[in-house]
Amino acid sequence: MTTHTVTLTEVRAVYGSGSRRVTALDGVTTAFASGTFTAVMGPSGSGKSTLLHCAAGLDRPAEGSVTVDGIRLDELGENALTRLRRDRIGFVFQAFNLISTLTAAQNVELPLRLAGRRPAASEVTAALAAVGLAERAGHRPGELSGGEQQRVAIARALVTRPAVVFADEPTGALDSAASGLVLRLLRSLVDDHGQTVVMVTHDPVAAAHADRILLLADGRLVDEVTGPFTPAAVAARITDLTLEPSC
Ligand code: ADP
Ligand code: MG
Repeated sequence: MTTHTVTLTEVRAVYGSGSRRVTALDGVTTAFASGTFTAVMGPSGSGKSTLLHCAAGLDRPAEGSVTVDGIRLDELGENALTRLRRDRIGFVFQAFNLISTLTAAQNVELPLRLAGRRPAASEVTAALAAVGLAERAGHRPGELSGGEQQRVAIARALVTRPAVVFADEPTGALDSAASGLVLRLLRSLVDDHGQTVVMVTHDPVAAAHADRILLLADGRLVDEVTGPFTPAAVAARITDLTLEPSC
């Protein structure tokens, strides 16, 4: 039986009110099976980041429900939601979001400290070693390349061993070599550790690493394809869908 780490049921998300009201998600139902890698694609403004934020409990939807590990997020109070996010969910941002005054090791141990734990040095070293940066533990973000900073951010997202890792355009600011490394890392979370990965990307090469691609347009899921993929096939599919309305 397939178990789902995350489910979304008829999720609607709205920003603003009155004449400035924007429906960012317009009834999205989907599920992310445990131990799978999903890519979310779609035009700018189609609701990809909102989908990730709702699924990760960073935003609360206006309607519908989200479950993580079988727990309904809308039934949790703020403290319980914060705990669940900290224990079960990792989030990787395009802009890395590292704290510039802290070393790589201090950034990585932050989620454990926020959870009230005293991290063992070996835990932090293991997380940095998993992203190939054990010897950079004492470096601050400004002393690391973009690719290295994103790997530190991934180590930070992994140190709590979350069931699911959400990544919002994690390779958007990286060159192709650094992107390749980050994508192989995300792939290995799924293949070697059975974690669930959901990644927003614009890049067909990045999306081709996934098992499944969801396509969003105007806050709705408009297509879903399962791999394996080649980057060329992903690019063709996306072009087709983008062109469809004007044909
Ligand atoms: P994507 O990540 O696909 O580019 P988003 O989820 O960021 O799309 O945005 C979906 C829609 O919601 C867009 O129309 C965007 O302008 C709007 N939106 C996103 N965040 C906010 C916000 N904080 N306030 C108002 N509108 C927002
Ligand atoms: Mg976005």
